[in-house]
Amino acid sequence: KQRKNVLPQYPGLERYDILEKIGEGAFSYVFKARDTATDKEVAIKVVRKRELDASETGKSHLHPNMKKKTKATERANILKEVQIMRNMHHNNIVQLVQFSESDDYYFLILELCQGGELFHRIVELTYFSEDLARHVIVQVAEGIRYLHEECGVVHRDIKPENILFDPIPWNKRTGVDNPFGDEDKVDEGVFIEGVGGGGIGAVKLADFGLSKVIWDNSTLTPCGTVGYTAPEIVRDQKYSKSVDMWAIGCVLYTILCGFPPFYDESIRALTHKVARGEYTFLSPWWDPISASAKDLISNLLNVDPEKRYTIEEFFKHPWVTKGQFPPPAPA
Ligand code: ADP
Ligand code: MG
Repeated sequence: KQRKNVLPQYPGLERYDILEKIGEGAFSYVFKARDTATDKEVAIKVVRKRELDASETGKSHLHPNMKKKTKATERANILKEVQIMRNMHHNNIVQLVQFSESDDYYFLILELCQGGELFHRIVELTYFSEDLARHVIVQVAEGIRYLHEECGVVHRDIKPENILFDPIPWNKRTGVDNPFGDEDKVDEGVFIEGVGGGGIGAVKLADFGLSKVIWDNSTLTPCGTVGYTAPEIVRDQKYSKSVDMWAIGCVLYTILCGFPPFYDESIRALTHKVARGEYTFLSPWWDPISASAKDLISNLLNVDPEKRYTIEEFFKHPWVTKGQFPPPAPA
């Protein structure tokens, strides 16, 4: 039996030195580890395979074949998922480096994001300046654009816990002196072009557990037969992409003010608010935030998925493009 303070050893992971636990979910642990072959640090997501189900303990009324089917289907889904992730290569997507499995676990060897979760940065900074928020959300959107347009994948679980980042300390990577001459300023969410801010460098989307392929050249829309695809399938693709746009709106709202657009202690009441798109730009927190940022958020948090901003519309919005041009010369 393992003691609490001893890190686990997994058969099949001998190549890695497990250093510390950095994340935990219902069916998974995430560890920081050193790859002894390359001497580089990685993240390892260990996903427990399905527990013995009721049918194996004799408590189920299901035919024994049913159990095998579910397990096989689950495995097929996971392998499909992994295949998709393997083919993803983008600076704003956590890279899957390796995949393996043992009898009891799946192992996903991932690019390590040393900064951890965006969620923790929000807690530390309370809220982000508009420039820092833009720096972050544009990278999130670049990741989403890649998933939607290049991979045909909808993430479906975009939230601050699944947005990771590489840290940039002042001076170190940028070679630029802290313009404030004060290390603490980095923690105030101030963003400076070319230097970064809030300690946040590259932002990366993680956790594809819920993502799914929405189009597949070999099945749904085979080349040359697109004309036969049912409208609801076409429409559904669009709708499902729109769930990520809604989530971008929620994340942008949250990082700008420090609290989420929809909240209630009762799940029922919360569901009701979300379904009706009931949120406000609460005073005094939203008073100093630009009308342009509010306009973008309103277009992302549109309850009608047909009218909600698409990823292309996001990138054309003035609040987003603002960051791409030098400020106008003084008159
Ligand atoms: P779950 O399905 O349990 O939510 P995630 O893939 O979201 O699993 O990982 C859980 C947590 O582990 C993340 O919220 C994050 O804190 C940490 N984590 C996951 N992947 C990485 C990574 N590549 N680098 C750094 N931390 C990670
Ligand atoms: Mg997660």
